Amino acid sequence: VHAAQRGNRWQKFTEADSEEATLQLSLLGELDAAMASGELWNAYQPKLDLHSGKVLSVEALVRWNHAQRGPIGPDKFIPLVEEHGRAADLTRHVLQQALEDAWSWQERGHPINVAVNVSASVLADHGFIESVREALRTSPVPPERITIEVTESAAMNDPARAIAALESWRALGVRISIDDYGTGQSSLGYLQTLPATELKIDKSFVQTIASDTRNAIMVRSTIAMAHELGLKVVAEGIEDQECLDRLREMGCDTAQGFFISKPLSAPELADFLGTGARAAA
Ligand code: C2E
Ligand code: MG
Ligand code: MG
Ligand code: MG
Repeated sequence: VHAAQRGNRWQKFTEADSEEATLQLSLLGELDAAMASGELWNAYQPKLDLHSGKVLSVEALVRWNHAQRGPIGPDKFIPLVEEHGRAADLTRHVLQQALEDAWSWQERGHPINVAVNVSASVLADHGFIESVREALRTSPVPPERITIEVTESAAMNDPARAIAALESWRALGVRISIDDYGTGQSSLGYLQTLPATELKIDKSFVQTIASDTRNAIMVRSTIAMAHELGLKVVAEGIEDQECLDRLREMGCDTAQGFFISKPLSAPELADFLGTGARAAA
């Protein structure tokens, strides 16, 4: 840095920013290799069915164990992948892995449902939906064993387009879950037109039901409303017994959170299903 620029904070920020940008771009360039090598892998977080006390489904959460940089969370690389038009490739990869793992669990006697997160940018992409149709056709896993999780805000971006896209997804036979529900300001009128099978209440509401009476009232009413509309309800972010007990009392169908299990590798999940699947109930 030139001596005259040393005290210039704006200059410093610019350098830091461009360093970060370079780092991000190199990450993007490594995406294909990371998918091929297994540096990018699916963790699976169990979802506990509160009616049977069994784990009947899991959610795939992508992870990047970078050889030099260590673990990188999805919040760091998904936005980058989105911005550079690689979301369809990454999602295809996650789904393909999910289908293979779902088949291996089924063969071990655990025919569980697997959810994959699908972002707004690929939700209505016809080419992407077609490639999913092909992946489902060539997999022995029945399509109803797969759920796509779409955030409420993604579905709200362009409601008419989202509804049309979700109809195409339904036609593939997969289930549809509205993720992070409660954070995206969808109107009640809109909600009942969505071809969804499940509402997933955001952890920010779930985590305060024991301490915040008003929040508890909202969660209870949301569960009742969803049931009236024929939707199942999942609560995410359960971190203690009290929260789990309250949700069960409220009639919530499914629970997910660190208290039940953190996200696991595929082999860890196979062990969990074989041994600990009923422990949290
Ligand atoms: P999400 O789909 O809402 O996933 C829930 C996030 O909450 C996950 O973070 C999960 O590890 C975390 N979580 C689970 N239980 C608890 C709990 O009890 N307490 C707390 N505090 N957190 C909990 P993660 O894995 O870092 O994923 C973050 C977000 O990244 C996800 O939010 C999802 O939107 C996105 N994401 C993850 N994998 C994929 C993917 O394959 N494709 C796309 N498009 N997005 C993905
Ligand atoms: Mg999700
Ligand atoms: Mg969520
Ligand atoms: Mg979330």
